[in-house]
This record gives sequence, structure tokens and C-alpha cells, in this order.
Amino acid sequence: MELTGRLLIGKKSVAIAEPEIRAINPATGEFLEPAYYSGGIEEVNQACELATQACIEFRNTSLEERAVFLETVAEEIMAIGDPLIERTMLETGLPRARIEGERGRTCGQLRLFASVVRAGEWLDLRIDPAMPDRQPLPRPDLRLQNIALGPVAVFGASNFPLAFSVAGGDTASAFAAGCPVVVKAHSAHPGTSEMVGRAIQSAVAKCGLAEGVFSLLYGSGNELGQALVSDSRIKAVGFTGSRSGGLALMNIAQSRQQPIPVYAEMSSINPVFLLPQALQARSTQLGESFITSLAMGAGQFCTNPGLVIAVAGKALEDFLTTATKAINNVAAQTMLTPGIHQAYQQGVSALANNKAVKSQGYGVSSEQPNGCQSGLFVTTAEDFLKDETLRDEVFGSTSLVVECKDIEQMLLVATGLEGQLTATLQMDDSDLEVASALLPILEEKAGRVMVNGWPTGVEVCHAMVHGGPFPATSDSRSTSVGSGAIQRFLRPVCYQNLPQALLPKSLRDDNLNTTSHLLDGKRIN
Ligand code: NAP
Repeated sequence: MELTGRLLIGKKSVAIAEPEIRAINPATGEFLEPAYYSGGIEEVNQACELATQACIEFRNTSLEERAVFLETVAEEIMAIGDPLIERTMLETGLPRARIEGERGRTCGQLRLFASVVRAGEWLDLRIDPAMPDRQPLPRPDLRLQNIALGPVAVFGASNFPLAFSVAGGDTASAFAAGCPVVVKAHSAHPGTSEMVGRAIQSAVAKCGLAEGVFSLLYGSGNELGQALVSDSRIKAVGFTGSRSGGLALMNIAQSRQQPIPVYAEMSSINPVFLLPQALQARSTQLGESFITSLAMGAGQFCTNPGLVIAVAGKALEDFLTTATKAINNVAAQTMLTPGIHQAYQQGVSALANNKAVKSQGYGVSSEQPNGCQSGLFVTTAEDFLKDETLRDEVFGSTSLVVECKDIEQMLLVATGLEGQLTATLQMDDSDLEVASALLPILEEKAGRVMVNGWPTGVEVCHAMVHGGPFPATSDSRSTSVGSGAIQRFLRPVCYQNLPQALLPKSLRDDNLNTTSHLLDGKRIN
């Protein structure tokens, strides 16, 4: 597939003025061809207009048509073949196996949503039939179903160039809900974005859908993204990235004449609690597996274990000795962008220069551009509780170990944490009492609480919650991974006393014989 550098607006490829966005190969620092055209207000306007025109028709496609569309997007992505893998590797510095795995996850995610759409549970059909003879007042016929919110703006993430980008979880779940999508490509991987965008464009055409179901815009600086979120035709936003970027978009969305939801996934340090008996029994194994999780993908995961909390003592010293040995052998890995690398180095220097923090160990350094040197730091619970900057995310392969005097102090540290995507307990059976004291605190802090694992690795399934209280996300009631993500782009409508012919098909009597619904509050089918 030859790259054009053009914006994809509906079925058109659009060039404007001079192209100005150029990807950088983070492994070499070289610019990559071609340059990409940067859109402005006019292109946002065109994409939003087409999305609005496509809205009703797309929302009313049958469940089967929508499911086939999602599967066709997956097929078209696979049909690009190796050029997609190669371009993504060039633009991100990520290794082949990781990109191939991520492509599988992206297509798996699209197929999962196809099955969710077919099953139809997300419609949440509810029927409270008329009770004309009810005293003192009759009850009207009331029928509820979820419908699509309308056009959704999606901001592709830098750290998952496929699974959280143009055809990633936000786009897949919005399409599943029946929402047209306008994507703002991440400027770090425009070529990958164009390839995937053209796969979606092709799927839209093959499935005979309205062209405005999908557009892909590029924009340098923040102007285009802000114009997109400001546009009154956009009804919701999906975003993964920095806290400052997410907050800026939330502010814009809230100050619109019609405020809209922004589902922003921002920052999380994913605390891991090493409970006393587990630490005593497995300090060496825990030290090794911790560094394996920390160093994976240069730590560029929102679920990276950036904070470890344990009670001071011999077992923690053993853990630290093993972890230090392991981190000393971690080779430097290329980070995604010069900006992310720079932010990482600033975060590591801030820890290293903090008088309350001890530099415990570093990985191998590198002269290569954008090389991530892993880092491990230690502080006391007292200092951690005093210094709020120690709770900031350092995006990359760095973690801070917090030494507590006792379990009481561990509970205080847990209580002082901000919202998180995950919280982990490393525990044995005899740690149950401590774990039971921590659990109610952690339930309030995190979207996912796990035992005896490491938080990196997020299963795409029905029971997953990849979300959590602020600043992990902007809305703790939602998930951006797994089938529950569809809920973000739906809203309920109640139809009162509508004649059968006017009701949505799913709510008509003849459909209810075979479809799952609530009848007077009782589950049928
Ligand atoms: P980012 O700077 O927040 O950018 C994400 C997307 O939002 C990009 O498309 C960017 O546009 C756009 N954007 C950012 N700020 C904006 C604003 N004020 N107004 C309008 N649009 C805006 O994130 P990033 O480039 O991926 O990485 C930067 C930092 O974000 C990392 O160092 C890390 O701290 C954090 N991060 C966190 C996660 C996570 O999962 N929690 C994931 C990735 C990154 P451009 O393309 O023009 O830059």
C-alpha cells in the first residue's frame, strides 16, 4: 500500500496546502516519508458534517449488518499484510512480535464487538406493558432500548499504535454502538494510521455504508483536536494519553454549549502491595518477576507497576537485592517518541534528585536515540505521604518502592493514593487478614484489583475493567477495554405508547419472542 499523506474524509483522500507532519523513526531519529497534511477547521467541519449525515442510517443498521462491518474491518486490516507491521515498527521502535501480537489483539477486539453486537444484550431492552385498568391511574405502555449517542471523536494513543489507535478499542466500541467515528491520528504514527484508516474506508465501501461512518484527520499542534471536540456535532470523545491532554479536552467538552462526555484514560502508577507472608516466602521470585513486568515494552504501558509498597525488613531487603540485580541487566529499549523519552528522563531525574528518594539501581544505558534506561527508586512511607510529586506517573520503565514501618502505615499509603487503573496484592493464604483490610480501600481506588500477578497485560473480554477513578480516567463508571466499552457510546430512550409500526424493530412484540429482555422487571429469553 503506497502512503499518500492525505486525510481521509468520508470516501475521499484530501490534500491541503503543504504537508507538514512527519513521523520520526525513534530508533534512528530520522524523518520518515511521506509528510502528512495537517487539517484545520474546514476539514473538521467536512468530517463532522458527513458523520452527522451518516448517523441515523448507521444507527439503524441491523445487528447483523453492523457485526459484518466490524468483521470486515478486521479482514481489511489483515489484508494489508506485512507492510503494516513494517511501517508500525519504523514509526514506534516496537519489535515485530509485539506489533504482530497487537494486530491480532486489534482484530480480535473487532470480532469480539461483532459478537457483542449480534447478541444484542447491549440494547438493554425493557418492557413495562400498559395497565389500562390500574387504579388509581392506568399505566402507559413503556419500552426502553439503548441507542447510539452520535458521532464520536477518537484520539489515537501513542503506546498502542494498533490496539488503541485508528481501529482500536475506542473506535471498535463506538462502531459497535452504531456511532460514526472521526479519528484524530496520533502524530507519532501517521503512516500506520493511514494504512488502518484506508482499511476502514474500504470496509465502509464494501459493506455499502454511508461514507461519513468514518474519517481520519491529522493535525499538528492542538488546534485540530480542540476544534474537533468543540464541534457541536460530536457527541462523545475517546482519548488515551497524557493527563494534561485529557484535561484540556475535558475542559473544552465541558465548556461547550452542549457539554459532552470525554472518556479519557490518562495516568496511573498501578500500586503493587507485597504482603508480609508472600514477601517472606517468595522475595527472590517476586523481585525477578517484578522487573520483568516493569521492563516490558520499556514500561510504556498504562498498567506499568510504577509503585511497590511493603513493610521494611529482611524480606524486603532480599526483594530489593534481587530486583536490583535484575534491573542492572535490563537492556535499554527505544521509546516511542522523543517527547515521551524526554518526559521520562525528566521524571527519572526528579526522582534521582529528590532528597527523600534513594536511587536503588539502573538498567543498562544507551547512546542510541530515545533509549530508555530502567530505574528503581526507594523511599519511606513517611516521605511518600508528605510529597505529592512522588505519586506522579513516570511513563516508562521506572518504579518507586515505598517502605512502610508496619501494616497500619501500609493502609495509610493505600488511602493516600489517587485513582488507579489497577491495584495488585501479592499474597499468601496467611496474608488474608491484611488483604481483607486493604480490599475496601483498593476497591475505591482502582478499576481492577488483582492477586498474585503483575498488572501489565489486559485481557480483552467481557469482565474486564480498564478504567478507574480520576486521574486514571475521566469517568470511573466506564471501561475502555472489553465488551463493556460499548456502554460509553449509548444512551437509553424510553418509548411511551408508540404504535407497533413506529417502534424500533427490536422493541416490537414479534421480535421479543426471541430476544432477551426485561418484562415487568423479570428476565425473559
Ligand atoms: P499526549 O501528548 O496526551 O497526546 C495524545 C493525543 O492527544 C495526540 O493526538 C495529541 O496530539 C493530542 N493532544 C495532546 N494534548 C492536547 C491538547 N491540549 N489539545 C488537543 N489535543 C491534544 O500523549 P502522548 O503523546 O501519547 O504521550 C505523552 C505522555 O502521555 C507520556 O509521556 C505519558 O506520560 C502519557 N501517556 C499515558 C498513557 C496511558 O495509557 N496512561 C499512554 C500514552 C501516553 P498530537 O498528535 O498533535 O501530539
